[in-house]
Amino acid sequence: MRSLSRHAPRGRELLLQLFTVLCWKSSWGSMSSGLVENYEAAMVLSAAGDALGYNNHKWEFCRSGEKIHKELAKLGGVENIDVKDWIVSDDTVMHIATAEALVEAGKDTDPAKLYPLLAKKYKESMDDMDGRAPGGTCMSNAMSLDPECPDGWKIPFEKHGGGCGAAMRAMCIGLRFPNPEQLDELIRVSIESGRMTHHHPTGYLGSLASALFTSYAINRKPPHEWGKALLDVLPKARAYVVESGRNVKENLDSWSFFETRWTSYLTLRDILDGKSQAKFPEKYGVEERDTFYSFLSYSGWGGSSGHDAPMIAYDAILGSGDCWTELSNRGFFHGGDSDSTAAIGASWWGAMYGFKDVPKANYKKLEYRERLEKLGRDLYQLTLSQGSQPNSK
Ligand code: ADP
Ligand code: MG
Repeated sequence: MRSLSRHAPRGRELLLQLFTVLCWKSSWGSMSSGLVENYEAAMVLSAAGDALGYNNHKWEFCRSGEKIHKELAKLGGVENIDVKDWIVSDDTVMHIATAEALVEAGKDTDPAKLYPLLAKKYKESMDDMDGRAPGGTCMSNAMSLDPECPDGWKIPFEKHGGGCGAAMRAMCIGLRFPNPEQLDELIRVSIESGRMTHHHPTGYLGSLASALFTSYAINRKPPHEWGKALLDVLPKARAYVVESGRNVKENLDSWSFFETRWTSYLTLRDILDGKSQAKFPEKYGVEERDTFYSFLSYSGWGGSSGHDAPMIAYDAILGSGDCWTELSNRGFFHGGDSDSTAAIGASWWGAMYGFKDVPKANYKKLEYRERLEKLGRDLYQLTLSQGSQPNSK
């Protein structure tokens, strides 16, 4: 009796896991034919959001959401913006780098193959940064990577490595590993790709959040459940960081900030239980959002860190439903690091809704559009082939 009761919870847990995987497989099978568009949209709309939030350097660094919204109104609103001359920023160039490494690695995601490839792509991406305002941490650390060397993708722990540069480029990792069976891989790859430039938990857990929420979006998990699910995944991420054995003490000493800030945010929106719908203040316009985003931030610039870039993107997703214009108002056009919150939020939105009602002018003539579409298709094909032949690892 004693041994039975001791093993029963483990048995139940295994059954539940099996059930989740079976559900995933059957829903994936029935959805998959239309899903390729969602993959393309997750890549293309992320870049569209980036270009819109960036506005050729002008809006990323504008601290006033009200000023941005006034200029936006003069342009006729987001519906009227043709992105032909709106270049993508560092976020998209590095997101493309992540996606290209995943595609080139193919089914073989072994660290010995994938990590040097990621490092190579990140380093090369620095050659395409003219006019794109790359972050200081991304720039200096990507340049220091040495993909030819066995451990050349590792950088030391860094106290100031909590910027959003790792989070802004990780969404495609969720497209590559959307199956609940692949959660360990999603955790491992998002953390290691993140800490190739941002070796600080606040930085690389941002990468994990971006990837994880993309996997939820593509599976159409309701957004109000994502936040709690992230908190539930954090112990696994922590265990991985301990097990990997690199700068364990420093990492654990700085671990709590990300978790504490996310717990406070979810409590404030009343979604810590993963069941309730998000509650917003009655008055939550441009000015109030700016104040709130700044309140969430590390140093006053909302969305510039690993914890608050995905958090602001998530806040915008929760408040917009399937309305692209509302998403842009909340997630792209604000007085913070607007291109990064836009790149992240728009990717999740595309993963859920495809190109639904998005004005063609916002993405048709977008820089790198065809390259991004192809990456979306390639990631989809990779996932599909592994959905029918699950990785035996
Ligand atoms: P990135 O390459 O990530 O864009 P930056 O060097 O431009 O990096 O830094 C972006 C932001 O990260 C800055 O606004 C800074 O305040 C913030 N930041 C730096 N260190 C931390 C940290 N440990 N925790 C949270 N935010 C941090
Ligand atoms: Mg940028």
